[in-house]
Amino acid sequence: MPRRMGHDRDKDKDRDRDRGRRGASKFSTPRKKTCKFCADAHLKLDFKNAQQVGIFISERGKILPRRYTGACSKHQRDITLAIKRARILAVIPFTATQVL
Ligand SMILES: [Zn+2]
Repeated sequence: MPRRMGHDRDKDKDRDRDRGRRGASKFSTPRKKTCKFCADAHLKLDFKNAQQVGIFISERGKILPRRYTGACSKHQRDITLAIKRARILAVIPFTATQVL
């Protein structure tokens, strides 16, 4: 009898865990984000290329965080450096020209 009760408790725990996982997946789909610079070794970030650097800045000219770029910490640092260089060379703007 006590053994059976223990078994039931385990089942409840399993059910709770399942419910928890299902609840979490409702808000965030478990999608594996990969750094595209790590994935493709031939891909080089060029700070003179406005189109390439421009995808890592927001509409206001801010540098996008890793949760948006999906880059690893090493390549996020490279992206940041490239954006700062591109800003000095006036390839991309420091800020949005028209303040809303
Ligand atoms: Zn990377």
